[in-house]
Amino acid sequence: MEVTRGPVLPGGRASSAGGMRAPCRRRSARAAAGPAIFLKNGCAMKDEVLKISQTSVAQALAADYFCIYYVDVSNNKFIEYSSSPEYRAFGLPTGGDDFIEFSRKHFDALIFPEDQERFLETFTKDNIIAALDAHGFFTMTFRLMFGGVPTHVHLKVTRMIEQEKRHVVVGISNVDDQMKSREAFVKAHHARVTYSRIAQAMAGDYFCIYIVDPDTGAFAEYSATEQYSQLGISKAGEDFFGLIRGSAERLVFEGDRGRFLAVFSRERVLSLLERDGSFTTKFRLMFGGDPVYVSMKATLMDDEDGRHMIIGLNNIDAQIRREQEYQRKMADARTAAKNDFLANMSHDIRTPMNAIVGYTNIANSHLDDPAVVRDSLAKIGSSSHFLLSLINDILDISKIESGKMQLSSGPCDLAEVLRRIEDITALQAQSKSLEITYMHSGISHFKVIADELRIEQVLINILSNAIKYTPEGRSVGLVAEELPAQASGRNRYRFIVRDTGIGISEDYLPHIFESFTREQNTRLNRVQGTGLGLAITAKVVELMGGTIAVRSKVGEGSEFTVELELEPLGEAPLPSCEETTAADLAGHRVLLVEDNEINAEIATIILQQYGLAVDRARNGQEGVDKVRESGTGHYSVVLMDIQMPVMNGLEAAKAIRSLDGGRSLPIIALSANAYDDDVRDCLDAGMDAHLAKPFDPEDLAAVLGRLVLARGTCAGPQEKP
Ligand code: ADP
Repeated sequence: MEVTRGPVLPGGRASSAGGMRAPCRRRSARAAAGPAIFLKNGCAMKDEVLKISQTSVAQALAADYFCIYYVDVSNNKFIEYSSSPEYRAFGLPTGGDDFIEFSRKHFDALIFPEDQERFLETFTKDNIIAALDAHGFFTMTFRLMFGGVPTHVHLKVTRMIEQEKRHVVVGISNVDDQMKSREAFVKAHHARVTYSRIAQAMAGDYFCIYIVDPDTGAFAEYSATEQYSQLGISKAGEDFFGLIRGSAERLVFEGDRGRFLAVFSRERVLSLLERDGSFTTKFRLMFGGDPVYVSMKATLMDDEDGRHMIIGLNNIDAQIRREQEYQRKMADARTAAKNDFLANMSHDIRTPMNAIVGYTNIANSHLDDPAVVRDSLAKIGSSSHFLLSLINDILDISKIESGKMQLSSGPCDLAEVLRRIEDITALQAQSKSLEITYMHSGISHFKVIADELRIEQVLINILSNAIKYTPEGRSVGLVAEELPAQASGRNRYRFIVRDTGIGISEDYLPHIFESFTREQNTRLNRVQGTGLGLAITAKVVELMGGTIAVRSKVGEGSEFTVELELEPLGEAPLPSCEETTAADLAGHRVLLVEDNEINAEIATIILQQYGLAVDRARNGQEGVDKVRESGTGHYSVVLMDIQMPVMNGLEAAKAIRSLDGGRSLPIIALSANAYDDDVRDCLDAGMDAHLAKPFDPEDLAAVLGRLVLARGTCAGPQEKP
């Protein structure tokens, strides 16, 4: 094999040792080891070589080399002394003026590319002379390309024994077999060293390691702690899996035994190892009567000695118990938070519900006294609004906590926002006899692109708190100002809400933006609240890319500052939405698809107040049938509940859209499913708008106006633009 892959050595030449004249008077031990012994010293170069080449000893020894050169180091001239036919096939000159130059020039083309750089760096005149002076010879091993196959060769330069010390001999021999076996040896040795190091390192982690022949089951224990040895498992034997399975009854914790036996068979482990290379299983081992968590890791290794399974057992008891403790604490904390939340909610929902139920009873028993009925209805109304805002807050906080809160972005008139805030909070302040002031003289750009409702929510939350936590007779104020514009081209606004109220303690201040937290004194003072408002406010401000800060002193008051950067709207005028009045809608026919009797009745009464003729369907399928049977133009609009029996609102809307009479029929979702995802699902199903229950009759009128009367160009926040 080597012959076909490597250089063909100059064997087969005359190898008789007879007839050679001893060329040298002195022979050093070192020189005797190399090809220099072929040459005679102190001769005129060509004649000498010719003379020496006659000698059979030289021929015999030359047989080990497929090429020998003779070089005169004083002038670098060289001549080829002998070469094999295969070497001659390279077509190299057999003599010349500069041996180093010749070698570098031709060997560069013949040397295996990976070795060229090293060859050129090493095979220099200086290196050779330095080595000869130091050791009497120079050697190097590299690969020559013989027949396209890289073949290891050994080049040796030896000084001849002669007085002038002018001549050297260069011999090149084939050492391919030698090198390959050496490489294989080094590799195997290296692998052995590596494996044993790995095993030693692993042994530190594993209290026992077995080496198993996966085919026969024969095994040996590589290392084991004393504690493991006490379990009394054999150290070596013929059937590892049989042994372990047989010991399972005695050693594996009862609760884990079935699973362990199901997994730990030779076939199962081997198939897992062949698929993944390694495999781990956890179970409890009985140590001195106590179950201890262990992890068993099996690895398949394939080396020159064949396949081996390395199986290590690791004590992970402390780690598992720490994890279990952590999980238990987390579960306790979750339960405590849930209980806290439910207790808070229960209290916060019961309070307004108590008012609603109580005043409903009072109104019922005073039907003949309009003043009492009116007063009761007003209180029922305000408690209902509180309940609704609580539900909206819970919805918002759950959106925030699940990362689902999204802001919408559209034209926004800050002057309008501030006016609405004024309308709402002035009434609140008035009812508490507070002095309230609003200042926004410093704003010159009111038109921006933003989520108008969320800006309003932020400012109303802070201002309502200021009113809530400021005792009667004191003052509250809102200052809105525009700051110098940023290089980004965005407008900057600052909103400051100041009150002279009860103030916030230093202890509580760092927690003020956390959900469900309230300061003790505000709870004790029985001021209504959930501790959600500021958490939502801070998150909305953050989503807008703004900042919120608070300063406060107990007994003196608080100051909340919100800063926002908003995109200017440009020159285009804001679309104007014409207000819809009840009279405008009169005479239109509406299909109300609603399964719940009370909801249907409320909607019907409100729609009838607007002069609409109401037809009702009790589920989605009935609604679709009614649209199909009545044909185009019969209904002006459909109000669609979502969760209904037989067919839900989403499917019904899709079905209506596929009917001739339903393609352009406005459909408004009227649903208690009020998450952003629910709104998107409705619009995706082909509906035109979404109103959350309980809805404000004015909002319904506005949507109906836009869709039925097709007046105005603006779309509401939950409508298709
Ligand atoms: P709440 O529904 O309780 O008002 P918030 O999240 O809006 O919830 O506020 C959290 C807590 O911060 C309040 O319970 C109150 O203790 C305190 N707080 C908020 N604003 C003020 C203020 N202007 N003055 C005093 N305390 C305030």
